[in-house]
Amino acid sequence: MKLLDVWHKLRGASGFDGGVVLDMHKQTAASPIVDCPLPSVLIHPLKQHIGASCKSLVHVGDTVLRGQKIGKSQGYISAPVHAGTSGRVVRIEEHTVPHPSGLGMPCIFIEADGEDRAVAVGPKLHHWSMEEPAVLRERVRLAGITGLGGAGFPTYVKLLKDQRSPIHTVIINGIECEPWLTHDHRMLCEQSDTMVQGLMLLLHMVGAKRGVIAIEDNKPDAIAAMQEAIEAWYAASEHQKALKLSVQALPTRYPQGSEKQLIQAITGHEVPAGKLPMHIGVLCQNVGSTYAIYQAVTHGHALTERVITVSGDALPKPANMRVRLGTPMRFVFAQCGLEVFDDIQIIHGGPMMGERLKNAEAPVVKATTGLLAMQRDVLLAEHQVEEPCIRCGHCSDVCPVRLVPNLMADFSRQGDFEKAEEYQLFDCIECGCCSNVCPSHIPLVHYFRYGKGQLAQIRKEKSFAEASRQRSEQRAGRMEQEKSEKAARRSRVRAQAKPAVTEDKDA
Ligand code: SF4
Ligand code: SF4
Repeated sequence: MKLLDVWHKLRGASGFDGGVVLDMHKQTAASPIVDCPLPSVLIHPLKQHIGASCKSLVHVGDTVLRGQKIGKSQGYISAPVHAGTSGRVVRIEEHTVPHPSGLGMPCIFIEADGEDRAVAVGPKLHHWSMEEPAVLRERVRLAGITGLGGAGFPTYVKLLKDQRSPIHTVIINGIECEPWLTHDHRMLCEQSDTMVQGLMLLLHMVGAKRGVIAIEDNKPDAIAAMQEAIEAWYAASEHQKALKLSVQALPTRYPQGSEKQLIQAITGHEVPAGKLPMHIGVLCQNVGSTYAIYQAVTHGHALTERVITVSGDALPKPANMRVRLGTPMRFVFAQCGLEVFDDIQIIHGGPMMGERLKNAEAPVVKATTGLLAMQRDVLLAEHQVEEPCIRCGHCSDVCPVRLVPNLMADFSRQGDFEKAEEYQLFDCIECGCCSNVCPSHIPLVHYFRYGKGQLAQIRKEKSFAEASRQRSEQRAGRMEQEKSEKAARRSRVRAQAKPAVTEDKDA
């Protein structure tokens, strides 16, 4: 039995283990969603998803409409990019995107004409239940929808049916367990009827019968709003009683909203390492994605806006905002009373899993769940000097994936990446629970990211070397074949030439 198997046996393998209870700082929980004004220029990165980057379909000087496709997918795992408003393409060049490195990627800059004229990806479709799921999935693909919980995985790929593992349960993830963020909470309170419709749509698309809206128990108003919406739906839909819709309240515990932990909490089944939720018959969709899917299918709306939380201890006027994709972060912060960024750390997403950005120049993208402005000195005080590991085991106690973080970090730090991988480095969801409780202030997640990056690089180099070896073997093989073909041709020519000489002699 492997060391890790022993470890799992000792810890027990059922239920959602570990996790931490955090100070939630949900100051904006009661702040209704407001519209962020449209800036003069929108910046659209050509890659806002997991998978292949898009190719620009426009040139400088072109005029575009809101919802017009301006970036074309170049792979199966990809999602098109659409113009956020009507106007003129003024630049196509590298610009910083939401990434800790501050590095850029090709972006399309659109100068707004102020008219906000729009084009749809398809006609309105209110009787979607009469349509084939494949038709509806195509709408989702055309609309460029990706996971709006921050992962950025193209949504239509998740909706594809696999006959080997039919989906029986759809879960709407309304957990929102990261501190400060409240945009999903507000969507559940303000768009409860649309959420139920979105859930029905998803059940139809994947052929499932059970739909669950999962919400943490620190959001009683959202739980009540969704229960009321489901009751209203049952009252109005006598013929749909075969479908089982429910709201499930779960304890407030980070990272409850992480997909695999949530599925385990709702279904009691664990998604095996290296497998996807679909392999155990479950589809999980974020609140924002569900709303966007509904808008795309019924109204033909491409994904050009999303709801985010703008908050943090350095922000004068925190808010939940509906923001046009491509809006510069600096512009969003200005709407919340922040214009000078000295001694302020900007975080893209939540404080546990979000990226710490170098400046506010990047635009809001599909994966932006929130923008936080935090006092840098407070953050630095939380990250004290790293001390040696005292083998206390607290990091393992809180790990929701039941890993051994201190050993994974040790091996990554020592450069023994293969050994770190043996300890399931790639199963780490980078939730940060282990770093959060470590009394030695070891930045464990930092070591995991480093280890994963190095392993990915080693694999890339190995596959490059293997490809070159194969190319050179194929070349040598071709040369050898050409040589033997030439030799065979020469022999044939000689053989054909011989009888002629003999004839001459006889003559
Ligand atoms: S960051 Fe990784 S190792 Fe640490 S607690 Fe989360 S899943 Fe476990
Ligand atoms: S919590 Fe920190 S000190 Fe304790 S075992 Fe884990 S890495 Fe070591």
